[in-house]
Amino acid sequence: MTKEVRTRFAPSPTGTMHIGNLRSALYEYLVAKNQSGKFVLRIEDTDQQRFVEGATKIIYDTLKLFNLVHDEGPDVGGPYNPYIQSERKDTYLPYAKQLVKSGHAYYCFCTKERLDDLRTKAEENKEQFKYDRHCLSLSEDEINEKLKSDEYIIRQKMPDSGQLIYNDSVFGRLTFDNNTLEDQVLIKSDGFPTYNFANVIDDHLMNITHVVRGSEYLSSTPKYIHLYNAFNWDVPVFVHLPLIVKEGGKKMSKRSNDGIISVLIDKGYLPEAILNYIALLGWSHGDSEEFFTLAELEKEFSIKGISKSPSIFDENKLKWMNGEYIRKMTDSQFHDIVYERLKDVLIHTLDTEKIAKILHKRTEVLTDIENNIDFFNKVGEYDKELYFHKKMKCDYEVAIIVLPQVISIFEELTSWDHDAIYQSLADLATKLEYKNGKVMWPVRVALTGKPVTPGGAIDIADILGKDMTIKRLKTAIDKLEKN
Ligand code: GLU
Repeated sequence: MTKEVRTRFAPSPTGTMHIGNLRSALYEYLVAKNQSGKFVLRIEDTDQQRFVEGATKIIYDTLKLFNLVHDEGPDVGGPYNPYIQSERKDTYLPYAKQLVKSGHAYYCFCTKERLDDLRTKAEENKEQFKYDRHCLSLSEDEINEKLKSDEYIIRQKMPDSGQLIYNDSVFGRLTFDNNTLEDQVLIKSDGFPTYNFANVIDDHLMNITHVVRGSEYLSSTPKYIHLYNAFNWDVPVFVHLPLIVKEGGKKMSKRSNDGIISVLIDKGYLPEAILNYIALLGWSHGDSEEFFTLAELEKEFSIKGISKSPSIFDENKLKWMNGEYIRKMTDSQFHDIVYERLKDVLIHTLDTEKIAKILHKRTEVLTDIENNIDFFNKVGEYDKELYFHKKMKCDYEVAIIVLPQVISIFEELTSWDHDAIYQSLADLATKLEYKNGKVMWPVRVALTGKPVTPGGAIDIADILGKDMTIKRLKTAIDKLEKN
């Protein structure tokens, strides 16, 4: 019988969810679901100084928004409770002590000052800081004496020589010289385990079979494997994900707002489009297909398709993909969104279904909706040069001929709908021996005061209604006559 695949998303609650975190969560979810396995959420809050109030809620909300449903976790429970590391605090020390006993770890009593000193010296010599094993040579009596004060940390003892070789599912066979590995801290002076220790203990205790995470952990993994070996535990499959970089190869910085999920949502990206886009940040299907729902990804995803070269986060590509998702919506789905976004923005009572229709093809991110319809509320200041349109053979002198006649015609119109408005303007163009555009252009400018709008003169007049249309045309004429 093969073992059930179990993956985990193990975020630290530091306040924001970034596309890097979300991609890890997605790939972890997919590795599990693709093999009918379990996806676990574990909160890694052992670094109490980095803890941010409310950050755990952001993690839950984000997973929910993207439909990455976890089978086990702090909120839903599971057989390996608790799933929050701070609540497992007492679990780790006995394991560290076991390693001390077996010679794979040791107590360290060095003061912060001494360690800072060593760090400064290493920096001055342009060397990478590595603990000098000062406390490794303490006698048993010295150790027992110092332990009385209860102020200690526990460090892992790396082998002095030899190499550690491991196979990463994405990066292949990797070789590390043991003497380059630092005697990392396992238990800190506050009694909490470090991430480096807790992740190994918990991955083992929670039966995690595949450790999927960012490639920044590639170089720490040999130290973790030494821990697994010291305990005689099975080593999980390691799947390290490629870096996500900005265009030009620059590192994405957590401080820049670019890849923060809540910022992308505020900018008007749809969760389905973000998810689809980040699925492609490091994975490809093998053919040119780019559009995937989560259900399709669950079927199609495979570790083999993950690439090790850095992936570029290109917001323009995301925007394009988002636009495609919007265009795939039905009229009524899109209208629901438009209605929600405009219900408190529009100051006049207008037909939002008609507004949705003119916006649908032109919307790439949802914020385009409110950003492109301000003219429905009010015509802002504009220059009469706006009436100039070379191709339509139009300028403000044409406008002053056309607009009063449009008003008279509109006043006579008994039905106010798209066809009636169109026919009346087309008839006027015929009468004046103009092309239609020469009539439509000044009407659109007069109704909106904008060089470009979603929808043309007829759509906009139809939405504004007869009274407001005529009122705006009169105001436009006054403005033309004044200048
Ligand atoms: N808590 C770590 C982080 O947020 C998890 C890394 C891992 O998946 O092992 O980066």
